[in-house]
Amino acid sequence: MFDMLGGSTTLLGMLGGVGGAIAGSFLSTIVVRWPEGRSVLRGRSVCDGCGRTLAAWELVPIVSAVVARGRCRACGQTIDPRHLGLELGCAAIGVVSMLAAPGSQGVAGAVFGWVLLTLAALDAAELWLPDPLVAVLALAGLGSATFCAPPLADRLIGGAGGFAALWLVGEGYRRVRGREGLGGGDPKLFGAIGLWLGWRMLPAVLLLAGLVGLGVALFQSTRGRAIAADTALPFGTFLGLAAYPAWLVMVLLAS
Ligand SMILES: [Zn+2]
Repeated sequence: MFDMLGGSTTLLGMLGGVGGAIAGSFLSTIVVRWPEGRSVLRGRSVCDGCGRTLAAWELVPIVSAVVARGRCRACGQTIDPRHLGLELGCAAIGVVSMLAAPGSQGVAGAVFGWVLLTLAALDAAELWLPDPLVAVLALAGLGSATFCAPPLADRLIGGAGGFAALWLVGEGYRRVRGREGLGGGDPKLFGAIGLWLGWRMLPAVLLLAGLVGLGVALFQSTRGRAIAADTALPFGTFLGLAAYPAWLVMVLLAS
């Protein structure tokens, strides 16, 4: 019996990895093309460099990038490394989510991680958290309340409280310093994260996001890039990178 369960968990983990690689392949086209105003509806079916239609074997997530050594075989242009990065990242999130919570909660956690990683990549490159994608994250969080913890009330308080907390910080900073300290998308993202994790996890997410941001700032300063008070850091990226591990901790503590 135990062996059987162990076997099926391994299978679910593998399915999560494959699903993650496919999701990452699509989501990476959003990250690369949306800021340029290009269509993402055709998925990865054309080369970003020369526009050549890609063959079926060139569309296999992760494998194609490794086989082609990161270059288009027609124009030789380097394929944006974010394609492979998102595919690997989403595959890892799929595996970890399904192993942590084999079943519908794991699927929900994987979706949470995939969308967060997409937003983190967009904010890192463009300092941009697109409203439609944050809205998708928020609605999916509400929807997941129908089949997994935390309860809806905790999530609604988390959604409203998360948004209000960061909005107040941003507004206070703007009044005192006379310029923007937080991006307009950060409170919305924190609210969406609250709809997934409930209000209880939000202080931990904020603390972890701050530590990640501090780590990045210190790392950049050791590389000779001075951080001034008005250097723009992608706080949405730090929130995204903190929120998925927080989901993982929440699930593991509850099981
Ligand atoms: Zn090409």
